[in-house]
Amino acid sequence: MKDSTPIASLGEFGLIDHLTKDITPVNSSTVKGVGDDCAVLEYNDRQVLVTTDMLMEGVHFDLTYVPLKHLGYKSAMVNISDIYAMNGTPRQMTVSIALSKRFSVEDMEEFYSGLQLACQRHGVDLVGGDTTSSLTGLAISITCIGECEKGKAVFRSGAGQNDLICVSGNLGAAYMGLQLLEREKAVFNSQPHNDGQPFSPDFSGKEYLLERQLKPEARGDIIKQLREAGIQPTAMMDISDGLSSELMHLCKQSGTGCSVYQERIPIDYQTAVMAEELGMDVYTCALNGGEDYELLFTVPLTDHDKVIGLKDVKLIGHMTRPELGRHLVTGSGQEIELKAQGWQSNL
Ligand code: ADP
Ligand code: MG
Repeated sequence: MKDSTPIASLGEFGLIDHLTKDITPVNSSTVKGVGDDCAVLEYNDRQVLVTTDMLMEGVHFDLTYVPLKHLGYKSAMVNISDIYAMNGTPRQMTVSIALSKRFSVEDMEEFYSGLQLACQRHGVDLVGGDTTSSLTGLAISITCIGECEKGKAVFRSGAGQNDLICVSGNLGAAYMGLQLLEREKAVFNSQPHNDGQPFSPDFSGKEYLLERQLKPEARGDIIKQLREAGIQPTAMMDISDGLSSELMHLCKQSGTGCSVYQERIPIDYQTAVMAEELGMDVYTCALNGGEDYELLFTVPLTDHDKVIGLKDVKLIGHMTRPELGRHLVTGSGQEIELKAQGWQSNL
């Protein structure tokens, strides 16, 4: 049995000290981290990017199948992803938590180990937060701060009418991972004699899908490649609500239409297998499934040769004049109007 130290034994300040004692800032922009009334940041002549997310137990995550370490990792990662989506570099993070009595010191250690792992991987300093109690479970609010050279931030609104549309990685896998977890949870709950048994179904052969759902990776590597290749995207965002919905945002804000070719949408083999198992159309999953945290961006036509040389980036279509509409072109050349089905994000 794992130890379960009540948080009351440390108290609020003791818990904060305990969770943050090993945190040492690495960025020169972090002048003061945890421990005073404010963190102090100094960015000189750079532009500062700020993003924030709030996550509620039962609404955005389900602790039946999300380990706290993964929850910490993912909560940090989705914020880091937002900074990259602006072409920025993430630097600092604040983490506020509201806890019910159900959580122990060890639980919060797990959560913080996930948070810190994500921060370390992306060079982010955890510089503060707030800790309070809750009557209904766990609530998490994270703010991430990043920097960007003046004039280099990439907005959703900058795409031109003939720009190429690119996407990193592959799509739909996180959604399939969620379906898998939900399915196994339903099976587990329907078993009559599962009292006291931990939730531990067999996911062999589907590890990648689970990893994509539970442990997404913000694509800082793509931002680095773009910089090294001398490509400044015209518009960019991360894919959290599904490709279809994000394309609509880019088109709407940029005042363009688009044509995206179904067969070019990157899909992993395990995603295709799982979709077939569930009797779902894999392209629907890739277009409307959420939480991929891949980057969707546009580049001018003149960057075509540069962009096709990037690793793990695929060209999936192009922007058009707005009056041509927003279309998915199927393998047989049929044009289907894109719809944003809207996706209830799990995190
Ligand atoms: P205040 O009374 O100003 O809200 P707190 O006692 O809540 O101060 O916080 C003391 C210090 O600990 C501050 O630097 C704050 O940013 C930091 N802190 C509080 N909660 C957390 C947390 N959950 N994670 C990281 N740092 C925290
Ligand atoms: Mg406080």
